[in-house]
Amino acid sequence: DAYLERIRAVDGSLLSYITVTPEEAHAQAEQAQARIDAGNAAPLTGIPMAMKDNLCTDGVRTTCSSRMLEDFVPPYDATVVEKLKAQNYIMLGKASMDEFAMGSSNQTSAFAKTRNPYDTSCVPGGSSGGSAAAVSAGLCAAALGSDTGGSIRQPASFCGVTGLKPTYGRVSRYGLVAFASSLDQIGPIARCARDCGTVLSAIAGQDPHDATSAPQSVPDFNEKVGKSLKGLKIALPKEFFGDAVDDEVKEAVLAAAREYQSMGAELVDCSISTLKYAVAAYYLIASAEAASNLARFDGIKYGLRGEGNSFDKMIRDSRSRGFGDEVKRRILLGNYALSSGYYDAYYRKALALKQDFIKEYDRIFQNADIILTPTAPTVAYPIGKQEHDPVKMYTGDICTVTVNIACLPAISTTCGYSRTGMPIGMSLIGRRFDEATIIQAADAFE
Ligand code: GLN
Repeated sequence: DAYLERIRAVDGSLLSYITVTPEEAHAQAEQAQARIDAGNAAPLTGIPMAMKDNLCTDGVRTTCSSRMLEDFVPPYDATVVEKLKAQNYIMLGKASMDEFAMGSSNQTSAFAKTRNPYDTSCVPGGSSGGSAAAVSAGLCAAALGSDTGGSIRQPASFCGVTGLKPTYGRVSRYGLVAFASSLDQIGPIARCARDCGTVLSAIAGQDPHDATSAPQSVPDFNEKVGKSLKGLKIALPKEFFGDAVDDEVKEAVLAAAREYQSMGAELVDCSISTLKYAVAAYYLIASAEAASNLARFDGIKYGLRGEGNSFDKMIRDSRSRGFGDEVKRRILLGNYALSSGYYDAYYRKALALKQDFIKEYDRIFQNADIILTPTAPTVAYPIGKQEHDPVKMYTGDICTVTVNIACLPAISTTCGYSRTGMPIGMSLIGRRFDEATIIQAADAFE
């Protein structure tokens, strides 16, 4: 009730939720109470959470912030939601996002252009901006987001909270509306690394409904929390500290590195020379996969039903009115890159780069346990500043996208504040399936 009250009081100015579900929340709270009374509570029993609006929730509208799915009510739960329900969590509602998770500012949402709780004239980041803003403003205890190229980490960084993108395959994507299937992962946004670990332990694991979920056993992700960092090797790739990154961001992350040193960690210099190709490779791969995944929204099977007296006209009208500008841009870019004649020139080259990023990171991890980078080149910027310059917006993803391409886990936590009082985020990248070490290191700093 306290959370629902707070949502009523402040979300009118933040717009972090698209749908609030008080009745469901009360019913779930009763069940949670019964379980607590019976003495067999799970870690998330009775914990009020928000779900990003691209996660299917049985009987609750799931819009992806798109007119295309404005009235879509899924008849099933995503696996992650089912797993949280098995612990008797409480869902407060569905969090806003960039349309179909395409964006970095939450301003492409057709319904709720979320604002940053630190300064409501600034963006909260994206695409999981609603989830991050809701956690930051105390409108839920934790939230789930999805991360295709930074969408958990960057909004967590902009809103001063902690966000974890798990290893590709760690969490089932069954019931997550697909954006780019070789990159998408679901993960937690919470007030601290330890809370992220608790939520990850609840949602991780192989799932027969998602063939890309890995047959890895699920550890207690907080098992290393509180242990000494002595001897931990932290790599700092110099390209992440170049001219593209604001000075105050660099300074805050380097100050955090020194603090790790004082905790007994060892700093390692390294280089990832292909970083300059990261944004180009990511936007080719992500758009190509998006163009293919979004072909299903034709107004027939589901989605907004357009008008027209022929099949073609009806589909054209559905997609013209259902999708916003950014989504259309990605579909055009993706189909272009996949067309005969352009496939080899663009898409195949981007795929070749994927192997390069994997090799570069493997090489760094031969001599380091984790990698420390800024989460974003800047702090949260004013609403309206970058929305009309897609290339500039895309460039802002330079620090996060290679992690998805290389299938690695990474956590973002706050490492300082700008002169204007906005949070600065740093990211810790781990070896594949080694979420426990980055949670341990983020917790030690927090
Ligand atoms: N900002 C990136 C994009 O627009 C990442 C989005 C995401 O991770 N879902 O594609």
